[in-house]
Amino acid sequence: DRTLPQVLERAASQFPDRVALEFLGAKTTYRQLLQDALRFASALQSLGVRPGERVAIMLPNCPQFVVAFYGTLLAGAVAVNTSPLYTPNELQHQLRDSSSETLVMLDAFFPRYQEIAGNVSVKRVIVTGIQDALPFPKNILYPIKARKDGTWVNVKAGGTVHGYKALLGRQAPRPQPVALRSQDLALLQYTGGTTGVPKGAMLTHRNLIANSEQSRAWMSDLKEGQEITLAAIPFFHVYGMTVAMNLSVLIGATIVLVPNPRDIPMVLAQIQASGATLFPGVPTLYNAINNHPDTPRFKLTSIRACISGSAPLMAETARRFREITGGANLVEGYGLTETSPVTHVNPIFGEQHEGSIGLPLPGVDALVMNNQEQPVAPGEIGELWVAGPQVMLGYWQKPEETAKTMREAYGRTWLLTGDMAVMDEDGYFRIVDRKKELIIAGGFNIYPREVEEVLMKHPAVLEAAAVGVPDTYRGESVHAVVVLKPGQQATEADVIAHCRTELSAYKVPRSVEFRSELPKTAVGKILRRQLASEACEART
Ligand code: ATP
Repeated sequence: DRTLPQVLERAASQFPDRVALEFLGAKTTYRQLLQDALRFASALQSLGVRPGERVAIMLPNCPQFVVAFYGTLLAGAVAVNTSPLYTPNELQHQLRDSSSETLVMLDAFFPRYQEIAGNVSVKRVIVTGIQDALPFPKNILYPIKARKDGTWVNVKAGGTVHGYKALLGRQAPRPQPVALRSQDLALLQYTGGTTGVPKGAMLTHRNLIANSEQSRAWMSDLKEGQEITLAAIPFFHVYGMTVAMNLSVLIGATIVLVPNPRDIPMVLAQIQASGATLFPGVPTLYNAINNHPDTPRFKLTSIRACISGSAPLMAETARRFREITGGANLVEGYGLTETSPVTHVNPIFGEQHEGSIGLPLPGVDALVMNNQEQPVAPGEIGELWVAGPQVMLGYWQKPEETAKTMREAYGRTWLLTGDMAVMDEDGYFRIVDRKKELIIAGGFNIYPREVEEVLMKHPAVLEAAAVGVPDTYRGESVHAVVVLKPGQQATEADVIAHCRTELSAYKVPRSVEFRSELPKTAVGKILRRQLASEACEART
């Protein structure tokens, strides 16, 4: 029953000289990382931050993120992961909802905070620039421009602004000890907002460590103090936080930080230069690598294991990725914010079932339930419920939402995932789709994913989404939104004809829209809800 600071302390004592963080050529050892985190904790305490207070962290993957996260916990405070992609309104919602009193952010994001500074409870802001993590004075490698015009220093509303480097420079690495327990709240992690307004999932030290331990157990051949993790997925999302950051600290791995996962040539260059062995990702990222014209120029054979999570992994994406890396094990997993996040993964060494999310992790129980909250037989569709040490305490200040999402049954606390799933006779699970995104046409249930898989098989299609739009006769009908591969062509009639060959008539899209890209959440999930409302607007 440890706390996350204890996990970092262990890594620093076992592997003091091993590089913990590698960022655009700058290296931080585990010993230094712990020292910096302790300094950060002292700095928070000197500014008056008390145990249990919320500290919002709005940073891309950079060393300051790891320092701020572990430093916040060392001071006994609660971290609030805040997406750097938030608009001022979204930022305001999260800062108010979490009543964060401290905000740690990248200087480039400061103008967005300034717009809403008067409406939130933030008392102090700690601002850092990418160059704070680099040994050279100018930001020559990465095109995020630090704002040096001083505008952000003179904020009128919203508390005092402190420079990260100067603040840490003044501190000794000896914060006042705080009594932390593993069941204490460590993180408020807001849900991705794919289906609605984000809610704050309350995750404890125990939740987050349990999920790193479960992931380690799954990848049984991890070598302590020897792995190199390519951290392209963002830490501000719970998937990157657990599988790229906390798991790496747990096993003393070097974390190679990539601040912008959309910059594919940068991701490729970092894999080659670092010899990364672990590369957790999301399907859109693997897909983008598979299709990028620069990919064949890079050597990617050091990669050994990859878990793909957050959205369905198409079999074709996995097959092609294995090919270009010379056999990296890319397996599909599943999880959600509320479960820290991973609950199911395909066996890395055992039998993998294509199109399946695999088996429950050690310590996880899973049920497939009908609308009467009774388990269904193998092979039948129902809502997936999960229980395990990584399940959240509940939603922050939303008792009604918590009550709707959690149940006590069979002696355990279950999380209702909102996903429709099937378990096969071998105990492997398959996600059919989200309960909320089901399309109902003329009384028939259509799962958008099934339509999308067929669309993706069209040789000219790069990405696809299927959404429900109002239809006077059928209630709803299927509308497809498609992105074509560069240089490829297809017409609406071609795409519909292709779907007819594989889908029953009621599932075939009635209309097809072509776009140059699809709207996505911060982790690259296609925002079907936005596409659906845009398609509806276009019709009225
Ligand atoms: P919100 O809950 O605010 O709508 P969100 O669902 O995107 O946002 P997350 O917790 O980030 O929030 O995502 C969890 C969801 O992602 C799961 O409930 C599931 O629908 C989807 N998901 C994750 N992994 C997979 C997978 N391998 N296959 C299919 N769906 C997946």
